[in-house]
Amino acid sequence: MLLTSPAFFSQGLFDDLPVGVVVLDRFDRIHYWNQTMAELTGITPHQAEGELIFRWFPELESVALNARIPFYRPDHPIVLRVHRRVVPQGQILTFQTDEPPSLDPKQADFVSLVSHELRTPLTSIKGFVDTLLRSRQQLSEEQQVHFLSIIKNQADRLTRLVEDLLVMSKMQSGSLRDVSEGIPIAQILERTLENLAQKVLGHTIVWQLAPNLPKVWADRDRLEQIFTNLLDNACKYSTVGSTVTISGQVVEGNFLTVAIADQGIGINPSAVSQIFERFCRIDREPTIDIATIGLGLYITKSLVESLGGQIEVESEAGVGSTFTVWLPINRP
Ligand code: ADP
Repeated sequence: MLLTSPAFFSQGLFDDLPVGVVVLDRFDRIHYWNQTMAELTGITPHQAEGELIFRWFPELESVALNARIPFYRPDHPIVLRVHRRVVPQGQILTFQTDEPPSLDPKQADFVSLVSHELRTPLTSIKGFVDTLLRSRQQLSEEQQVHFLSIIKNQADRLTRLVEDLLVMSKMQSGSLRDVSEGIPIAQILERTLENLAQKVLGHTIVWQLAPNLPKVWADRDRLEQIFTNLLDNACKYSTVGSTVTISGQVVEGNFLTVAIADQGIGINPSAVSQIFERFCRIDREPTIDIATIGLGLYITKSLVESLGGQIEVESEAGVGSTFTVWLPINRP
């Protein structure tokens, strides 16, 4: 049965998916609109089918394959994350809400923020697993692999979130191990890069460590976590093929600074002050599609300060960012 044949969709297979599914014909006319899409937009399949998609989503005439686009519901405007897949008979679009938590993270109840962060990937995992269990026979192998890869990505996201929360709670309860000693910084940076091998693979790493750097007084695990977060971000927020520069020098006699500079998307000046806050979300161009949790820099800053150091950032949107960590050379 053809993927976009009416019979395929009339079976209601896609109605229970946790994402909105829309199928367009070659002339951008809506051929299928699932129930989730109706719940997201308030527009029923009956109203939508047969209409041009641009009637409700004019942005789709110009945006890339994956984008975030606004949708003005009568009750409140929402932002939808849309993925488009072009098939011989037209296009298959999936829509998901992409609303940042509306509460100020500083005042928000922490438990409700965490619940929100846990629920989003869990809902998605449950929906796709249900669909696979119920309708595996009717799905092509390609569709099954696609659903499984979404499940894996969401599970990875959950793992990262839980790991970040564990570090945070250990920091807050004072039970995070601290075995400080004199540590050669180059050794830690090299180990961190080895562990991140998959993620840094496509980037050129340039070393600019001053010769004969003294050791820093710090805990090995905390240092590794700090540089893992910064190097991971440097690669995540820049394009494959760009350069990440790691430089190190002694400053003011007592501190060693390590700067990690990328040539990535940068940060708007108005957002720079928020990035070290819990669950920080920055409004990005709709074409930038990166899954974020927003705990990495909060943890990084807390860890740096726990070692008696400081972290600062210089960034320019579209040019790149440099995060500089100041670490004490002597026991504080
Ligand atoms: P996450 O772990 O979800 O990426 P972080 O706390 O590490 O969150 O970062 C907070 C926000 O700061 C990110 O959502 C991103 O917008 C911004 N950010 C962090 N590092 C960089 C970077 N190197 N370049 C551009 N933006 C960055």
